[in-house]
Amino acid sequence: MNPAAHIVRVALNVPVATLFDYRAAVGKEDIGQRVLVPFGKRTAVGVIIDSARTSEIPAARLKSVVEVLRDGPGFAGTDLDLFQFASDYYHHPLGEVVMGALPARLRMVRKSAPRFTAGELRLTALGAALDPASLPARAVRRRLLEFLQAGPSSLSDIRAQFPRAAAAIRELTANGWAAVTETGLAKLHPGAAGAGTDTAPDLTAEQAAAVERICASWQSFQTHLLLGVAGSGKTEVYLHAIAAILARGRQALVLVPEIALTPQLEALVSARFPGTTIACLHSGLNEGERLAHWLAAQSGQARIVLGTRLAVFTPMPELGIVVVDEEHDASFKQAEGFRYSARDLAVVRARQRNVPVVLGSATPALETYYNAVRGRYALHTLTQRIGAAPPTIECLDTRGERPRNGLSARLTQAIRASLSRGEQSLVFINRRGFAPVLTCRSCGWVSGCHRCSAQLVLHLKDQRLRCHHCGHQAGVPVACPQCGNQDLAPVGQGTQRIEATLAGELAAARVLRIDRDSTRRRDAWPAMRGRITRREVDVLVGTQILAKGHDFPHLNLVGVVNADALLYSADVRAAERLFALLTQVAGRAGRGETRGTVLVQTEFPGHPLYEALKRHDYRAFADGLLAERRQAGFPPFVHQALLRAEAPRLGVALEFLAHAAQLGRGLAAPVTLYDPVPATLPRRAGRERAQLLVQSASRPQLQRFLRDWRGRLSDARSTRARWSLDVDPLEF
Ligand SMILES: [Zn+2]
Ligand SMILES: [Zn+2]
Repeated sequence: MNPAAHIVRVALNVPVATLFDYRAAVGKEDIGQRVLVPFGKRTAVGVIIDSARTSEIPAARLKSVVEVLRDGPGFAGTDLDLFQFASDYYHHPLGEVVMGALPARLRMVRKSAPRFTAGELRLTALGAALDPASLPARAVRRRLLEFLQAGPSSLSDIRAQFPRAAAAIRELTANGWAAVTETGLAKLHPGAAGAGTDTAPDLTAEQAAAVERICASWQSFQTHLLLGVAGSGKTEVYLHAIAAILARGRQALVLVPEIALTPQLEALVSARFPGTTIACLHSGLNEGERLAHWLAAQSGQARIVLGTRLAVFTPMPELGIVVVDEEHDASFKQAEGFRYSARDLAVVRARQRNVPVVLGSATPALETYYNAVRGRYALHTLTQRIGAAPPTIECLDTRGERPRNGLSARLTQAIRASLSRGEQSLVFINRRGFAPVLTCRSCGWVSGCHRCSAQLVLHLKDQRLRCHHCGHQAGVPVACPQCGNQDLAPVGQGTQRIEATLAGELAAARVLRIDRDSTRRRDAWPAMRGRITRREVDVLVGTQILAKGHDFPHLNLVGVVNADALLYSADVRAAERLFALLTQVAGRAGRGETRGTVLVQTEFPGHPLYEALKRHDYRAFADGLLAERRQAGFPPFVHQALLRAEAPRLGVALEFLAHAAQLGRGLAAPVTLYDPVPATLPRRAGRERAQLLVQSASRPQLQRFLRDWRGRLSDARSTRARWSLDVDPLEF
């Protein structure tokens, strides 16, 4: 073996917790670059994580790198630090973490030069210096070269003017004579897309104090919790802090929970920062757009990066601040595969880069709030609602009355009154479909999903029974499949049923249902928003899609149906989620000049959660919840991880977990291992699921245990169960 030969350790997109060694002559600057390597029978794209002088692989078996892709984009050392942390902490293979952070087009091996669809072709210095006469007289590439020597041209113009243009373009770019600059991405171009400019409003004393304290520590790591009631202007605090950071030559990263909220924020941000390039990264982009936005962030061209969960991994060389809006939102935690929390990684990233991070919410996650009250996070509260006064929240006691098809007489009356004043109302129900189940009154048959331990939801509009867990659907039976009885009855309420009830009770009202079914088409939601804003709608019926962040100036009444279902749930976090959800829904009422009203139908009007909600007192609610959790030994007072297993039969999954528990107990670590139990939804899409909870008062000790445990689990491969670890689980 040649002792001078260099070895590179390469991350590849394979589900094993190891890097792969190859021979290559590389320097320090190649760390983080993409490489082409032989892998099995194919060539794969990977990323160089490290270099070394020796390898444990015998020299004879060590293969060489095909090519280090030095001309293309790569990761910086700070990016790799974040990937390494995420891989260690969530116990997920580093290769998948790294490759998952690359846009799909940069993960692909290209056999030929990339095909460009939009953009501009311009000559390189090499092409400009070339004499066209040196090329065959009739060749298209010669004529194209001559054409470009007069100046760059758009690809579409070239295609219109030259026969076989695609081949000529490929030839010119492959020879390095010309290069394509991708354009056509209006969002990347400052001042484009008809964005108006907007000047910053004056800040309230509370807002100004928060901005000042956030920016005072701009060159050091600090986590800030911005706790502000709905309508208190948290966004203004973000925008002012971002402006201050941009002025210091840094980039800003803003994470939002939902793709649906990005266009709104994007419009706001581009109006406030005209001339600043903004990259937007969310699941609604096609691969070309994703690549262009990612490159803009990675090259430093984009100064502000807005995005959903995955954007937390976007390379940003001059990162100066991280903002996480609605930080309590469960969608920041990935629910499958690599189960990371983007909110928590945002804090880690800020710590690694030594910059401030701002977590904003009206109802922070209890973990976040606890960190603030014990002084780990700086707490800034915004108590004043800007504009209208906070809505009045009342409970409608439904114990004496069986609400007809879900709506109580008082709620119907209030909607009617609001209708007569020409105002809009919203009925909030957290379940789509017509009714959550169809039953037979004579034999007790219920519409269950044969692949899941869940019921099929009745969707009357399209006459289907649908499983909301696995997507299975079936026609609505005309008679009971068990006894033949024709009197099948829908039980419970969904959005469609409330919509039907309203249509019956208030014939004059124009009702619009907004849920995942009615907004499935890509352009459906913007059109609906337009109708609401133009007052072409009187009553909205909707799920939590409507709860988040949308402002409807004519909406003054919100009715909440079915909230009690979450009040007494086995899930530790159910109350926390319900409070956050109801606060968000209540925030939709009275954004205009008039004060809004929120009516909550409940059989538990004296419940402390509703009491705190009526007073808009998150802190009283959270303090009470913290005391309960401390007593019961629940998070945030303990740290948890869940070992999830699934198999075709429940017995196999439980057996695997029992074995895992035994292995865990053998490690004699200061952690508590609970008994394996079936998951809350034990059967989903034909797979049986079970889980094993492990917890510890110490996060480092839990992590140490998980590392050892995972090693033993990987060795014990005599099982047909698929398993995965979920660190800091949110769903049980
Ligand atoms: Zn029956
Ligand atoms: Zn199902």
